[in-house]
Amino acid sequence: MLNLRERVAGVLASGSTADHRRPVIGRGNESNVKGLHIIGDLAGAPVIKLAMAQGVEIIDYIGESLRAGTSSSAGSDGEMLDVLIVGAGAAGLNAALRAQETGLRYVLLEKEKIANTIENFPEGKWVYAEPDTTPAKGKLWLDGARKEDLIERWHQIVRDNGLDVRTEEPLTALKKQSDGTFLATTSNGQYRSRKVVLATGQRGNPRKLKVPGEELEQVYHTLYSPRKYTDENIIVVGGGNSAVEAALTLSERNKVLLSYRGGEFSRLFKDNREQLDRAIADGRIEPVLHSNVRRFEAGRATLEVDSGGHQEEREVPFDHAFVLIGAELPVRFLKSLGIKLENEWDGTPLWGTLLTAALFAGLWFLGPALGGAAPGGWELGTTGAYAGGLVALLATVGLVAQGMKGDRWSWLGLSFFAWYSIYGIKVGSGQEFWPFKGWGYDSLSFFERPWAFWYTVLYTALMTIFGLQALKRWGLDRRDRFQIWRFTSLLAFQWIFFFLLPEFLFQWAVEYQWVGEKLANDPQFADQAWRSYGLIYAWPLFFYTWLYDPHQIWVVWGVVLTFGVIPLFVLFNGKRYCSWICGCGGLAETFGDRWRHLAPKGKTAIKLEVMGTAVLLFAIGVTVVMLVKDTYGLYKTADWGIYGYRILVDVWLVGILPVTVYPFMGGKVWCRYWCPLAKMMQFTSQIWTRFGLSRFHIVANDKCIACNECSRNCQVGIDVMQYALKQETLDNATSSCIGCGICVTVCPMDTLSYSKDGKESLPVVQSG
Ligand SMILES: Cc1cc2nc3c(=O)[nH]c(=O)nc-3n(C[C@H](O)[C@H](O)[C@H](O)COP(=O)(O)OP(=O)(O)OC[C@H]3O[C@@H](n4cnc5c(N)ncnc54)[C@H](O)[C@@H]3O)c2cc1C
Ligand code: SF4
Ligand code: SF4
Repeated sequence: MLNLRERVAGVLASGSTADHRRPVIGRGNESNVKGLHIIGDLAGAPVIKLAMAQGVEIIDYIGESLRAGTSSSAGSDGEMLDVLIVGAGAAGLNAALRAQETGLRYVLLEKEKIANTIENFPEGKWVYAEPDTTPAKGKLWLDGARKEDLIERWHQIVRDNGLDVRTEEPLTALKKQSDGTFLATTSNGQYRSRKVVLATGQRGNPRKLKVPGEELEQVYHTLYSPRKYTDENIIVVGGGNSAVEAALTLSERNKVLLSYRGGEFSRLFKDNREQLDRAIADGRIEPVLHSNVRRFEAGRATLEVDSGGHQEEREVPFDHAFVLIGAELPVRFLKSLGIKLENEWDGTPLWGTLLTAALFAGLWFLGPALGGAAPGGWELGTTGAYAGGLVALLATVGLVAQGMKGDRWSWLGLSFFAWYSIYGIKVGSGQEFWPFKGWGYDSLSFFERPWAFWYTVLYTALMTIFGLQALKRWGLDRRDRFQIWRFTSLLAFQWIFFFLLPEFLFQWAVEYQWVGEKLANDPQFADQAWRSYGLIYAWPLFFYTWLYDPHQIWVVWGVVLTFGVIPLFVLFNGKRYCSWICGCGGLAETFGDRWRHLAPKGKTAIKLEVMGTAVLLFAIGVTVVMLVKDTYGLYKTADWGIYGYRILVDVWLVGILPVTVYPFMGGKVWCRYWCPLAKMMQFTSQIWTRFGLSRFHIVANDKCIACNECSRNCQVGIDVMQYALKQETLDNATSSCIGCGICVTVCPMDTLSYSKDGKESLPVVQSG
């Protein structure tokens, strides 16, 4: 039975095609275990060149920290290594070369052979040296080459430098000593080291079927030399590129059966798809879809095949079977080293719930001292208030302490408390949510400015601080002009249209009559500064644009914006309004950016996007009722409708829930699941696309290496890699893409780009 933690992880990734998790790493790629650094594939460097770069950078970082004496000192202990490097792939080899160059005492451990992952590529595979705009760092050689030539060059470099590589010696255990150093156990002995660099990659852990007989010697999990086999019965299990490429090569000289549990081969490179179709048509490969291997026995495998709803068993003779169903994150190994993975829900909801409840209860008792009503009408006086304040304080400290210990439920409780309070108080003086009723709004109104004003200041400040960080992360550090413009645009719109205009510029425009004498003296216009949000926010996001007796100018602009400007913008830019302009999307893209990889992925998560249609219908219904209520006397319906929309959508769905879950589900929960404007733009973009008029597409060339970076970083949970592998055009007919361009930015192979007509491949993102 799954425990709660696994169930939560399962819900967040339900239906997802890949494990997007990684170890938690901080500055200098340090894991939660101090002194243990993680590099390469395991740390998210998806290609050889980037893994090599990390090898060099980590040794420079470690060298500096050892010299600065910030780490544990080994004194004159001659047996103590400065750094133990684990894994002789691209990252580990380059790290070892750098360690040697800079005079650090090191050992490089390797479980099998030097560059084992690349050794396991099929014979003759061409290895790309992407990204080609970045020079290779360090002493290891890299250029586009056949895998055999690359490996030969690397062996030569290892020999020339006399590198201390201990092959066939896996790290099996690692213990942190009381003096801060490490004791590492391998199959051959023990090492002591001041620092450890883990460069073990993710590929050395083939996924298993976990069926009886899988350990037989005719059953393999890699295919090294397909041309070694002739006139044999071969079963290949899997539906990805590795399985299909293996099946294709093996089918040149053998009889091949390809068993796949899915109903179609949907994750193949375009080339592989075409070759597979031909091989099936020629009878060289027999595909058995909807099939699961139940067991292997000597010379015979049993498949369970789903034929239209009922299961049949089929026995298949085989000489060799290749189970090529991908690799798994070596979770058990990482856990055994004490390494934490992203989004781990340690602990139980008990403490988080109890402490959050105590925090609210404490404030409830504190409230009367600040002008609120006494709980239950009891008069508890100052003692009650002090006790309430103390309980609230202790509960906050408790939540933080639990959170620091890794209990995400406590962080969830604290995050909920923060955003519930901020928004529950903002509903208005005297209308605040419990337990702030009667005191919250006034307590947060300073310097003769109401909480609503300070809320906007807080919002803009959060966006600015985190927006500058995101600008640096995606734009400046990568010299990516597209992202520089995007974050500049988001910050400019927030500052000008969603802060300065409604809070200052509108009032000045009236006071100094920049809008003309007539408008400035018209109270219907001049007294409603809040309507200036409607200059950029279209209905139904800015839901009140035609309600509550607006000046004619706002009615006309509302119609032009909603039904003219937005559809036209969508024609050329898809839903880029969400990632370039909107303040709601802006907080998600900036404050929520660091958690973008946690966006729910998979089919279930996509199906839930239908909630946006419900909110859109709700908005349309309430707007219509509000507009016709005087004509048809629908006052009660209108009152309930507008109250319901305000509380459910404006407060809970916009303000409280999505921001609460930023650290757990990424920033785009509102935009993706509930925003009625996003849904309206989605429908509009779909129509433009279906009529072949849309100018918004992302296209892929044939260089995808299935590293998953694009899918992992898509904040609206799109499996971009699926499109890239099949070289299919990604647009709004099949996805809810908001055009943030992060997938294009992170792709290490320059596979993705925007195109104007979906055919050409004109990169918009340019380096340098
Ligand atoms: C099919 C495929 C095609 C690819 N094509 C390309 C391409 O064309 N160009 C490109 O740049 N990238 C490509 N890649 C990605 C590339 O392989 C990785 O980015 C690169 O290998 C990562 O290097 P690394 O050093 O982090 O990890 P790896 O190269 O995976 O090295 C990890 C090493 O650690 C060892 N190890 C594991 N556990 C232990 C242990 N407990 N103790 C000691 N040693 C251990 C392993 O045996 C292995 O040798 C491709 C990947 C795949 C799967
Ligand atoms: S598919 Fe790419 S551009 Fe579209 S939302 Fe996802 S990351 Fe952004
Ligand atoms: S398209 Fe996606 S999966 Fe393919 S190489 Fe680029 S980032 Fe990796």
